[in-house]
Amino acid sequence: MTDVRVALVTGGNRGLGFEIVRQLAEKGLKTVLAARDPEKGRVAAEQLASAGVQTAIAVLDVNDQTSIDTAVAEVLRLNGRLDVLVNNAGISLDGSRAAVADVLDVSPDIARQTYETNVLGPMRLIQAIAPHMRERQYGRIVNVSSRMGQLSGMGARSPGYRMSKAALNALTRIAAAELDGAGIKVNAMHPGWVRTDMGGSSAPVSVQEGADTAVWLATLPPDGPTGQFFDNRKAIGW
Ligand code: NAP
Repeated sequence: MTDVRVALVTGGNRGLGFEIVRQLAEKGLKTVLAARDPEKGRVAAEQLASAGVQTAIAVLDVNDQTSIDTAVAEVLRLNGRLDVLVNNAGISLDGSRAAVADVLDVSPDIARQTYETNVLGPMRLIQAIAPHMRERQYGRIVNVSSRMGQLSGMGARSPGYRMSKAALNALTRIAAAELDGAGIKVNAMHPGWVRTDMGGSSAPVSVQEGADTAVWLATLPPDGPTGQFFDNRKAIGW
């Protein structure tokens, strides 16, 4: 078994996930860049390798239980451990740039699909990995959420996305409470409005800055927080 902590990042082939993999690898963790499309995963890993950053890859669609079980089993077979889970993969089908983003008009199917990926995906990953973390009495789980899901600041539009991130925040608190005392920290974070395919080119925050809080939460010391929501490394309200 390797001495080095092993981290799996979903949606690691582009955007924030790609940058989180890069920063975790630079911190000395062994990373697994999980991508649902094997070719995209391979190209992303090659891009990192050409910059001197090594990562393993896994094929993982957060909506596909078999692909999750297979990927997690393979990581455990190869490394004997899985210390960090970053639930980064996400979709925004009724985000601010979508044609239809009003609660009165949006199709329930859009909301259902968004919930599948943004909430049930992370839940499936936690179910697959947390039992192993509990056995080893160590784990860091980071849910990449959004202020769009913050109930205290909830506003109009993007109902599917907003409801999914509010539910992801609920999942964060439930998992943190259930795993409390097992050496496992579960936190949610807002990366800012980040220049990615999802955020668009006019977003003010770089991927480097956007990934920072997730990486910090993924490497928290034993006395670090659990069951909280962060923006720029500062706890914020739900
Ligand atoms: P992005 O550029 O659109 O990347 C999304 C990633 O998620 C891609 O790798 C995509 O894979 C993957 N993904 C989508 N559905 C998947 C599935 N079913 N299984 C596995 N992977 C899947 O978005 P981003 O901006 O980096 O966003 C990353 C996270 O940050 C999301 O959870 C998002 O909600 C959150 N966030 C972003 C912003 C922002 O301003 N960008 C703000 C707040 C929160 P493919 O390449 O195969 O599609």
